[in-house]
Amino acid sequence: GLLGVFLLASMQVIWFSRRKNQLLLRENEHLDRERYLDALTGLHNRRYLMDRKQDMWLHAINEHQRGRCSAVMIIDADFFKKVNDTYGHAAGDAALIEIATRLKRNIRESDLLVRWGGEEFVVFTDAPNQEGLINQISRLMQDFKPYPLIFDGHAITLSVSVGYALMPLQWSDHSKVSLDETLILADSALYLAKARGRNRAIGIHLLQQQTLDKQQILH
Ligand code: GH3
Ligand code: MG
Ligand code: MG
Repeated sequence: GLLGVFLLASMQVIWFSRRKNQLLLRENEHLDRERYLDALTGLHNRRYLMDRKQDMWLHAINEHQRGRCSAVMIIDADFFKKVNDTYGHAAGDAALIEIATRLKRNIRESDLLVRWGGEEFVVFTDAPNQEGLINQISRLMQDFKPYPLIFDGHAITLSVSVGYALMPLQWSDHSKVSLDETLILADSALYLAKARGRNRAIGIHLLQQQTLDKQQILH
């Protein structure tokens, strides 16, 4: 009889610890998901990109070897401060959600879209060739044109500027531009898109260094 009670108690202990492990696992999975998500837009966040960027980089190199064209884009909402200042922070939040929605519906399942921070987003994408890539970026930007966001009875027109760089690029000594360098180049292209009037995309397709060295170009 004692042995029976002992066995029963042991089985209960095992069952409870298994159940507890399952719950902990589920909780961890939930925390992992939360860790990688942006609370406002529901998109993946910067941390997710940091953890995935090496994979995306290898994917880009692979695509390039297959004759396809990969790029990283930095997308920044235009005059966003004005949206907050004119219509309030809640309108700004709604505009960010709207921008995320429009970006999301213009990328493919295999692309990576993250909210990089503030009103900036990053996309890793690929296309069959450069023309296909340009069409893709064009479509994405056109999707901001047809109608404004309606918030609290106000029509808020949204637009974005895009800076992008093809991957992988090469320096003139044929060494590969690293992923971090590529992001710096895409950011410079974005800066140019802003300076030239916004609501446009500027991309770096090729580096031709005639007078500047690598450090000067990055600077
Ligand atoms: P530009 O066209 O040069 O990019 O101008 P901008 O006004 O978009 O750029 P700026 O960097 O001056 O302002 C960005 C604004 O985005 C300021 C900041 O308050 C707002 N912003 C960033 N994150 C959030 C957010 O989560 N919610 C809201 N409502 N606003 C945000
Ligand atoms: Mg910005
Ligand atoms: Mg902005």
